[in-house]
Amino acid sequence: MEKVLLLTHTEQDGTLGSAALETLHAAQALHGELTIGIIGASTHSAADQVAAAGANRILTIEAEAFAQSRYATDAAAIEALCRASGAELILAPHTSRFARAVPGVAARLSGRVDTHATSVSIVDGVPEVSRWFYRQRMEGVLTRTQRPWFVLVEPGSYPAFSGAAGQSTIQRIQMPDIPTRTTVTGIRAPEADEQTIRPDAKLLFVAGAGWTKKQPDGAPHTQEAEQLILGMLRASKASLGGSKSLVDLSGEGQAVLKCMTHLNQVGQTGSTPRHQKGLATCCHGEEPHVVGWRFVTERRAVNLDPNCGWARGKADVLYVADAFAVMREVNRLLG
Ligand SMILES: Cc1cc2nc3c(=O)[nH]c(=O)nc-3n(C[C@H](O)[C@H](O)[C@H](O)COP(=O)(O)OP(=O)(O)OC[C@H]3O[C@@H](n4cnc5c(N)ncnc54)[C@H](O)[C@@H]3O)c2cc1C
Repeated sequence: MEKVLLLTHTEQDGTLGSAALETLHAAQALHGELTIGIIGASTHSAADQVAAAGANRILTIEAEAFAQSRYATDAAAIEALCRASGAELILAPHTSRFARAVPGVAARLSGRVDTHATSVSIVDGVPEVSRWFYRQRMEGVLTRTQRPWFVLVEPGSYPAFSGAAGQSTIQRIQMPDIPTRTTVTGIRAPEADEQTIRPDAKLLFVAGAGWTKKQPDGAPHTQEAEQLILGMLRASKASLGGSKSLVDLSGEGQAVLKCMTHLNQVGQTGSTPRHQKGLATCCHGEEPHVVGWRFVTERRAVNLDPNCGWARGKADVLYVADAFAVMREVNRLLG
């Protein structure tokens, strides 16, 4: 039986985020000897959140220095938790914070790390990790003999642990002062309403270049397109994805949707989000439909062209309709 460490960090409010709770679900399913390690400014709430997880031990490292993501402090804390737990298999959520710090710790401990894991299981007593390669086109299954083996689990791959909160017994590990060169002075982020990329939303709304093309009256209607898309996003709190053709338009000096940047691009050279539902509009491309939607389970598309092969081939339902008319009606119903 492998000794398993679930490594987590708290969010700004001191609790564990959904990626950490999903990784806990993955760790529980291994039926190993489970230790939970928590890093944060204050770890009580987080430890109580996982009281019913059935862990043998909950180890915490707590100080103001661990409130923020910083390589030096995170790597030192992760190393201390790994040594204290004696674990051979270490699961951590693939947050930007851990993606930055965990590989360095794997090197320090002469272990190995695998990132973007979508499943972890024990087959005939041997741990196996699955991940996708070549921009999510091929799935590979890995085993390794080296230990400790760190596995960063992709958010959205497991349901979140939802056991009742309780009072946990924790074992606090004291850390010496860690010399740092980086001081975090604050966080700059767009206002919540301006933020169109929402990984936790139920629906991914994908806009294609068709929104900016000439419409049946012979003219483009880019301004109305933007109002319809933003209206829908505000009312539904959906996440916004875009095809490459649409997000590239700004570089070509054409009429653009200002709400769209390259960060919104889905597909082979964009992202592969994991929302439960997807709705593609005015979008024809192979990459957004095949690769961008790889992990979206319920998929629908709106396209004027009944012969749009990718929308037909990859969507569960294709509405052959004018997306402007459809979204006007959707917004009316939502509003
Ligand atoms: C190596 C490589 C990597 C790539 N990576 C990506 C990637 O990561 N992501 C990506 O998106 N693309 C990628 N592409 C580009 C991709 O192949 C397509 O060219 C692109 O996705 C097409 O974008 P689109 O569907 O938005 O635009 P178009 O192909 O122009 O399609 C517009 C669609 O809008 C429809 N339409 C127009 N008006 C309306 C209306 N009123 N109502 C309903 N429908 C309407 C039209 O019927 C048409 O089907 C890549 C290409 C290459 C070669």
